Amino acid sequence: MTTMQFDAAFRVIDVLHEAGYDAVIVGGAVRDTLLGAPVHDVDVATSALPEQTKQLFDKTVDIGIEHGTVLVLDMDEPIEVTTFRTEGTYADHRRPETVDFVTNLAEDLRRRDFTINAMALRSKTDIVDLFGGQADLAAHIVRAVGDANERFAEDALRMLRAVRFSAKLNFDIEATTYAAITQHASDLRYIAIERIKAEFDQIVRSKHPYRAFRLLVDTGLANYVPGNFQHINAWQAFDAVNSLTGWALFSYVEQDVQLITKYRGSNKEQRFVKRVFAAIDALAALTPYALFEFDEAEWRAAVKIWNHVHDTTDDISRILAQKAALPIQQKSDIVVTGKQFLAWSGQKGGPWLKEALQQLLYGVLDGSINNDEHYIKGWFEREWKF
Ligand code: ATP
Ligand code: MG
Repeated sequence: MTTMQFDAAFRVIDVLHEAGYDAVIVGGAVRDTLLGAPVHDVDVATSALPEQTKQLFDKTVDIGIEHGTVLVLDMDEPIEVTTFRTEGTYADHRRPETVDFVTNLAEDLRRRDFTINAMALRSKTDIVDLFGGQADLAAHIVRAVGDANERFAEDALRMLRAVRFSAKLNFDIEATTYAAITQHASDLRYIAIERIKAEFDQIVRSKHPYRAFRLLVDTGLANYVPGNFQHINAWQAFDAVNSLTGWALFSYVEQDVQLITKYRGSNKEQRFVKRVFAAIDALAALTPYALFEFDEAEWRAAVKIWNHVHDTTDDISRILAQKAALPIQQKSDIVVTGKQFLAWSGQKGGPWLKEALQQLLYGVLDGSINNDEHYIKGWFEREWKF
């Protein structure tokens, strides 16, 4: 517990305590610290109302005032401070839009999803653990806080979150929690695809994705999200590291380049998946143009997926070395542009120009044209007679 974020969070907590409010670190940061795992975001929860928190610090930003969240910028690291809250009434199996602020930490912890996520740190040594979170961490169990059936009926996304944490931590889902997921799986259809996608972003890059895909199929959750989940064995022993590569594998396993689109992936994500599919196709006969066309991230994903699915050992470093050894790394490295073609030919632009530039690119890449103005002019005058 030595991160800058932790120090900053405890300094925020000290200020709140001195002003007479309760304040704690909550959620994922507590879980990950107890696990000895790296911590990303350190969230503070407090009995102070947002306006009261704002009065105690010099620099704050309202980042979700209606949900009670204020960003405190007084310390070296920005810290999110959220007022203790319960969630208003649930409708449509979705998280409610309204929240009710409360002054009691226990109420705030009770609305949290899993015991491992419902612990708080009031100081470095004072753990608030009302639901057996530490025991479940030790036993590697994801267990709903309170009545699992009620909790999943309130917010169906929690079922997918259970799968996500199971895949991230390599934990089992506790039996009654698991049974409740099978009961409520169909409620997932009420959840916006964007929220589902956010959970899948984490599932596909988790350390234990097969566990997640197995759970999705076995609980029935898979029936309510895009994909056919026919070949989930492909996820065994796959470590995508990043979610783009994870989405590319998911789409490749499903043989559906559109899968990422069905999850409303961004344009960047859709483009990445498409290009990784193309790079995989290009692996069969590596041309200089293919080496040039796909960037390092695309090659890494393509080779990783190909090797994984086909149990081969294509060497990414060899491919990247071949790519690095190409005569040019980008089009602008070619010493001649369309302007010179126009001047040399005295012609107007048109489809011929695009074609000539394309031939030039291929020629420079495969070494048949030297990347030298004099040489290229000679080539151009031989090949393009007007
Ligand atoms: P990660 O490190 O993956 O971000 P996290 O525990 O911080 O894990 P978040 O999704 O950031 O997960 O949520 C922060 C905390 O908010 C959770 O630990 C949990 O206590 C609570 N929480 C988040 N979403 C829900 C939900 N749908 N229902 C109940 N509690 C939730
Ligand atoms: Mg978090």
